[in-house]
Amino acid sequence: MLIFRGKNRVTSGYRLPDRPDHNGLDIVGDDNRDVLCPVTGIVKSSAIVTNQNDPTWEWGNYVRVDDAEGNRLYFCHMDSRKVTVGQKVNPGDQLGVMGNTGYSFGAHLHFEVRKADNKTICDPAVYLGIPNAKGTYTDSKSGWVSENGAWYRYEAGLAVKNRWVKDGKWYYRLGPDGKMLTGFQKIGGEIFCLNPKKEVQDGLEIPVGACIITDERGNLIR
Ligand SMILES: [Zn+2]
Repeated sequence: MLIFRGKNRVTSGYRLPDRPDHNGLDIVGDDNRDVLCPVTGIVKSSAIVTNQNDPTWEWGNYVRVDDAEGNRLYFCHMDSRKVTVGQKVNPGDQLGVMGNTGYSFGAHLHFEVRKADNKTICDPAVYLGIPNAKGTYTDSKSGWVSENGAWYRYEAGLAVKNRWVKDGKWYYRLGPDGKMLTGFQKIGGEIFCLNPKKEVQDGLEIPVGACIITDERGNLIR
């Protein structure tokens, strides 16, 4: 998976001829600033170094995640960090928010991958399944995806936000953050019941989040 929901715009590649000493990918999240973890791993660093005698200051707010093989993934220049050292992370978990901290000129994410020896630097594009080239890439994710314990609706890799979504015969409502709403919700002055947990009523299975329309006696209409 990619790092940002929606458009991931690579502005500088890994060791391309125009910047052979650039050891990572610079990526801008054009649709969403949340930095999502592309792999399963453990958070090994979540810090900012302000002492400019330490070259790590250039990374600003950064997070290091080690994957199962011990490869070190670095997410740099973030505005803020959302994880702590020792935390286990899964694909789609939020690590932070894209920013412009450290040695950076404009909000972007510097994504770099090193092997466990901390010396060998790898092509980070491989981890995202995209070419090491400037361009805009989007995840092909679609449908309902569970991330951080909440359900999100994706259409062409982009999280749908803040509107009714029709899926099969059911309607769902998404909040401004793109999460599926459940329970009683006041929407446009009207109260809706968005099924809080999966249940079966009159032999009909009602999924979580589905809008339930009942008559005045509580009988299911749809
Ligand atoms: Zn960079």
